[in-house]
Amino acid sequence: MTDQPQASSVLRFASLGSGSKGNATLVSDGETHVLVDCGFGMREAERRLAQFGLHPRQLDAVLLTHEHGDHIRGVGPLARRYAIPVYLTAGTWLSGRLGEVPRHEWVVPQSRFAIKGLEIEPVTVPHDAREPVQFRFRAHGRHLGVLTDLGHPSEHVIDAFRGCDALILECNHDRHMLDVGPYPPRLKRRVGGHWGHLANVQAAELLTRLGLDRLQRIVCSHISEENNRPELALEALTPLLSGDESRLLVSAQEHGFAWQSIA
Ligand SMILES: [Zn+2]
Ligand SMILES: [Zn+2]
Repeated sequence: MTDQPQASSVLRFASLGSGSKGNATLVSDGETHVLVDCGFGMREAERRLAQFGLHPRQLDAVLLTHEHGDHIRGVGPLARRYAIPVYLTAGTWLSGRLGEVPRHEWVVPQSRFAIKGLEIEPVTVPHDAREPVQFRFRAHGRHLGVLTDLGHPSEHVIDAFRGCDALILECNHDRHMLDVGPYPPRLKRRVGGHWGHLANVQAAELLTRLGLDRLQRIVCSHISEENNRPELALEALTPLLSGDESRLLVSAQEHGFAWQSIA
């Protein structure tokens, strides 16, 4: 977990942690380091970044997917303290959850942009926030998809994430566990609904639609502690892997996952 991204020609990614208590993903092309979301408080984010050999000042940007607390909590404090630019949609800004930051840049869904050599495509997702996006990254000819917080695998999402070499994919809940679990009925409807979160079975359906031939890494992410278990997420996706389970990883709330390089 302490490996630093080398200044080499490789697209790399890691997670500081994933789940309803906080999400943050690192993406690096060796020269550019960006953080996608920061649902951890500033001190906690600093501590977790240090475990990956990074100081907040080394971040070129924080990209924000949407305004829910498990994604935005530490973004304003980090950006203010270390003068890190925040990239976000106008809708996310209008939620008022970020507060003032020294510099922000507009993300226009479906409009590609670049931070130094790292190319980024923001993709609209069906989720109950103001203007949520997820991101597809490209560097050194390799593609990484970061795809969590979506209620269903829409045609638009499937088109936008085809041909990735690695994919961080939401496996939020097991439908049966959500049904019989402790959430109140209204929250069950929200999580399981079209603008909530992706069930294991929907993640499997999405992967089938995307095709798995190119995918070197698939990371089950944003796993609910109440309504899922890592084994159930793995069980849902393993049959799609034609015996090559080494491609499949789980991102945990506490430790995320270590740096992964896309060859
Ligand atoms: Zn959300
Ligand atoms: Zn979330």
